Amino acid sequence: MAEERDYYEILGVGRSASAEEIKNAFRNSARKYHPDINKDPDAEDKFKEINEAYQVLSDPDKRAAYDRYGRAGVSGGGFDYQSVDFSDIFGDLFGFGGFGGGSARHRNSPRRGDDIRHRITIEFLEACFGTTKEISFTRDEECGRCHGKGAEPGTNVVRCASCGGTGEVKTIRNTMFGQMVQYQTCPNCGGRGETIQTPCSSCSGRKVVRKTVRKALTIPAGVDNGTRIRLSGEGQPGQNGGPKGDLYVELAVKPHELFRRHDDDIEMGLNLNVAQATLGDEIEIPTIHGMEKFIVPPGTQPGKVFTLKKKGVPKLQRKDEFGDQHVMVTVVVPRELTEEQQELMIAFGRTLGTEIQPQDRGFWDKIKDKLNG
Ligand SMILES: [Zn+2]
Ligand SMILES: [Zn+2]
Repeated sequence: MAEERDYYEILGVGRSASAEEIKNAFRNSARKYHPDINKDPDAEDKFKEINEAYQVLSDPDKRAAYDRYGRAGVSGGGFDYQSVDFSDIFGDLFGFGGFGGGSARHRNSPRRGDDIRHRITIEFLEACFGTTKEISFTRDEECGRCHGKGAEPGTNVVRCASCGGTGEVKTIRNTMFGQMVQYQTCPNCGGRGETIQTPCSSCSGRKVVRKTVRKALTIPAGVDNGTRIRLSGEGQPGQNGGPKGDLYVELAVKPHELFRRHDDDIEMGLNLNVAQATLGDEIEIPTIHGMEKFIVPPGTQPGKVFTLKKKGVPKLQRKDEFGDQHVMVTVVVPRELTEEQQELMIAFGRTLGTEIQPQDRGFWDKIKDKLNG
């Protein structure tokens, strides 16, 4: 260890640095040299040195002594690491503690509320063009009787005697860096830091009650099956003053009897009779935007796909942009004919001749390719 280095220099701060600056500098260097992260063999020594510097400079008395007398003023030979609260420093670095963590150290610190998932079903065209829906879901809200205190009004909440209200008790662990302080959930109060003598009759001491909440949900045009809409801050309440969670509304879209959705495109089948396919026609076909004039060209073959540009679904969050509508043609061969039709068809058939027209091999190859996928 470089015994002679100046503590301020080790942390890379000026002699007039504030407590906050020192703490930040320590966090940054400790992150860099923590042996769990930095595999350099010197990292451990470096890490100890940083801790040593921080332990002195973060303590106003020790810092004053160090400023006057240097190391002689503070070193009683060896450092006891137990006064450095590692879990506090590393809480955000290693994932123990912090929001949502189960660490005892943070049992009493602000925690974000859980997210809530809610699923609703909407109509096909509502998904295409957007809509407003009233949704109803349940979540916890602050108990109105005890105002979130958990105690029956007029009775007391007593600070836990075992932990002094912090919700945790200290233990000391020996590690490669010396002794480290660890905190455990206080067994007496279960980490709440207080004991309720008479629980609130409305919430049984839970501080929250289950409530059904109704909200108007604006669904934008262009959503699809599985789209999730986030309502920020509409989830479960946070604990100890932490922020609320979010509400995620997942959409299920009902099928439509005519249209199929493929991303922003609409697919629709269209039946034409033999005459329409042969001679062509001017017809009206349904789109999600209403009836559209559509020209069937003469000689239209079964399986032909026509594309109606921009007659598909409005693109989500893109103004005036639309998908297309694809129209797949089936030519319907009549199963039953009137006597008149039959005579006409026979006459027509004679004009076509009786010559057999086999397709080339390519036709079957294509089918085989399709089957083999
Ligand atoms: Zn306690
Ligand atoms: Zn209550």
